Amino acid sequence: MSGSSGSSGAPTRWRNWAGNQRATVQAVHPASADEVAAVLAAAVAAGRRVRPIGSGHSFTGIGRPEHVQLVCDRLSGVESVTGDGLVTAGAGTPLHRLNSELAQRGWALTNLGDIDRQTVAGALATGTHGTGARFGGLATQLAGLELVTPAGDVLECDARRHPEIFAAARVGLGALGVVTRVRLQAEPAFALRAVEGPGTLTGALADFEALMTSTDHVEFYWFPHTDAIQLKCNTRLPLADGLRPLPRWRAIWDDEVLANAAFAGVVAAGRAVPALVPPLARFSARALAPRTWTDSSHRVFVSRRRVRFLEMEYAVPRPSAPAVLAELRAVHEANRWRVPFPVEVRLAAGDDIPLSTASGRETAYIAAHVPAHTDPGPWFATLEKIAGEVGGRPHWGKLHGLDASVLRERYPRFDEFVAVRDRLDPTGVLSNSYLDRVLGPARG
Ligand SMILES: Cc1cc2nc3c(=O)[nH]c(=O)nc-3n(C[C@H](O)[C@H](O)[C@H](O)COP(=O)(O)OP(=O)(O)OC[C@H]3O[C@@H](n4cnc5c(N)ncnc54)[C@H](O)[C@@H]3O)c2cc1C
Repeated sequence: MSGSSGSSGAPTRWRNWAGNQRATVQAVHPASADEVAAVLAAAVAAGRRVRPIGSGHSFTGIGRPEHVQLVCDRLSGVESVTGDGLVTAGAGTPLHRLNSELAQRGWALTNLGDIDRQTVAGALATGTHGTGARFGGLATQLAGLELVTPAGDVLECDARRHPEIFAAARVGLGALGVVTRVRLQAEPAFALRAVEGPGTLTGALADFEALMTSTDHVEFYWFPHTDAIQLKCNTRLPLADGLRPLPRWRAIWDDEVLANAAFAGVVAAGRAVPALVPPLARFSARALAPRTWTDSSHRVFVSRRRVRFLEMEYAVPRPSAPAVLAELRAVHEANRWRVPFPVEVRLAAGDDIPLSTASGRETAYIAAHVPAHTDPGPWFATLEKIAGEVGGRPHWGKLHGLDASVLRERYPRFDEFVAVRDRLDPTGVLSNSYLDRVLGPARG
């Protein structure tokens, strides 16, 4: 084990992106599967716990280290892309780097979430997803991975080799081992035509199914205190049809000035004077003018998020989404809460991954946000309760209050995952208080 990968470094302070998870830890930076195995062996021998970490963009304590933090920044980089688009990359590769290297070689990931700052292993571990009725989350594009287990084994896992481990590890919560390398199936690079503009929540709920399946990737943001939504409809096109990117001034105005700088001002004003929140919400809903543009897929899928927030997101059965949103709106209106952030609504296809939030069912995602360093109070609790009534499943990386006893009811294959975890990590060296809560303590 190299000096920088050892676990004897001085304690360092860590905090996640939103600043709601903090720890003082020993950080290690292994550069190979063997170095990872040595870190795990030392921790097992010393009775210490290890958490791998990516970009720290999870809101929950899923990545919060208790003793040793295994930073994946030296397990990074695109290693190869085969002629049929199978990309092999280090687990700590940030998605933005993966996207740009794929684009240079004529390939793209099929679907992406809102941002690209996450590492590929971190995004996979929590079931990170984008939107699109016919498209699954990132884990559905995973073809194989290299996993270092707490016993020190370096396993190549895919549909043929260790298939039961692979099935669980596709959305593995970082609980089964340390992923050191991933293989993702990319597809030929494509363009997206983005049509963005205003609508109403009343209209969206009346015709939810038709709206959300009207093209390939549809999402909307509802501004509480108003009936206004901002709709984003992205249609897949061949690159050969040509690109019509936004003029640079427009991209900067919309995405940096309005969506980030002005929105930061709106949030700050609302915090200082809560009575301003409803009129500011109406202002925000009107500020973004309609626009149509076409660009490489990863540039359209992804935006910058400079205003820090806390988030809760629930995956609900798709047919239940309009009723959940209608009830959320009714409770919000009845209580006159001051919620300055929009609610985001997306879709995903059902998949066959045990702990994917879309496991076994067509899914709609409903996400609530509040400014960082504020108390989500009854707003998040209300979403959790309403979504829970229809079997909602929380995003593993976004705030929620559920534990293993409830989650077992929400995931038919929950015990299958826990059995793999108990076999691979019988002493819980890879666990932390969040994983103890959501999976139950390891039982070797
Ligand atoms: C601004 C913002 C926007 C977001 N947008 C979306 C979105 O559009 N869609 C969505 O679904 N989510 C979204 N998220 C949530 C985010 O995608 C997830 O929380 C994701 O897990 C973060 O990736 P990360 O690299 O920061 O992982 P971290 O938060 O650092 O870690 C997450 C988990 O991965 C594990 N892990 C990391 N590396 C490894 C490894 N090598 N081996 C094993 N386990 C590992 C960690 O132990 C932890 O359990 C957003 C978050 C933020 C802050």
